[in-house]
Amino acid sequence: MIYLDNAATTRITEPVLQSMLPFLTEQYGNPSALYGLGRNAKKAIEHAKEQVAKAIDAEPSQIFFTSGATESNNWVISNYDKVVSSEMEHHSISNIPVVVCLNINKMFKFKIRNTPGLVTVMLANNETGNIFDVKTLIQKAHKYGMDFHCDATAAFGKMPIDVKELDVDSLTFSGHKIHAPKGVSALYLKDPSKFRPMLYGGNQQNRLRSGTENVASIVGLGTACELHNYNPETDKLNRQKRDKFVSAIKTIPDMIINTDLENSIATTINISFKGIEGESLMLLLSQEGICVSAGSACNSGSLEPSRVLQTMGVPEDYIYGTIRVSFSNETTGEQLLTAAKAIKRNVDRIRGVSNV
Ligand code: PMP
Repeated sequence: MIYLDNAATTRITEPVLQSMLPFLTEQYGNPSALYGLGRNAKKAIEHAKEQVAKAIDAEPSQIFFTSGATESNNWVISNYDKVVSSEMEHHSISNIPVVVCLNINKMFKFKIRNTPGLVTVMLANNETGNIFDVKTLIQKAHKYGMDFHCDATAAFGKMPIDVKELDVDSLTFSGHKIHAPKGVSALYLKDPSKFRPMLYGGNQQNRLRSGTENVASIVGLGTACELHNYNPETDKLNRQKRDKFVSAIKTIPDMIINTDLENSIATTINISFKGIEGESLMLLLSQEGICVSAGSACNSGSLEPSRVLQTMGVPEDYIYGTIRVSFSNETTGEQLLTAAKAIKRNVDRIRGVSNV
């Protein structure tokens, strides 16, 4: 199998799994319990908080664990009455009724009225990999007295993230995109005392997010933050692999690369082929053991063209023929070239230009 859907989810790596196993077996204590077994679990959570904090230049007291970036995004937004966002956001933001979505380019120009509220824009887009100039928007939001939330789910590990340098008010990312388990995410809150709780109950996590902590997954997330955070050398290798893949793909006629190769994370490439259906291409590739996404996995079940690509102005005769290829540090250049050849062969086949 050649797995090229790492923007949808990733494999748990061996060291991440090994760090988790004790907390699924003998170290099963409740972190709120005061005897040794409980204290071990509590210590493991505190260590994971340190690992997460270090990865984004935060303090451990500013880190909270939730059930996923969906919950983290919902938590932050539930604290505001007025929320302005971009049309590029993930549905865990854009589907929240209070959120007003604007064109990302207009966000750099429009004048925000001087009212308290929240602006939320992602660091990198999960469908295209494109990076947004969030820092400029943060400065602008603060100038108008608004807070700024950043969904860094697609960005974490693929670009450096420094919450102090960004001066962001809250930021989240998700375990299962960085080789840790599904159902766990880290949320950074610059000033936790300003936030109402997400869940009420046994007062865990400083009374802000009740519920017995998912210790093993939190430990896995901490390990992933340490081992799979951004590394410039790995990034350089990934860009070399990507460029070779893109050169091979460019030999296919009538295609558009929707990823801005000059300003994107290295591992996500979004491509549209004229006159075909992305779903058909995805299924043919799947028969050859190659996993890609026809758009975004979060939109599965819907054959509507991607809102993100529509906003970007991808032409109608291309937009339905879109696939997203997202690799990881584990993917080899050879696997990417095998996939490029298979994509070419199957695009030709769907277009009826070969007898394969
Ligand atoms: N934001 C982005 C950009 C995402 O890609 C995703 C997952 N597809 C989420 C939020 C939601 O994350 P989770 O699956 O952890 O709820």
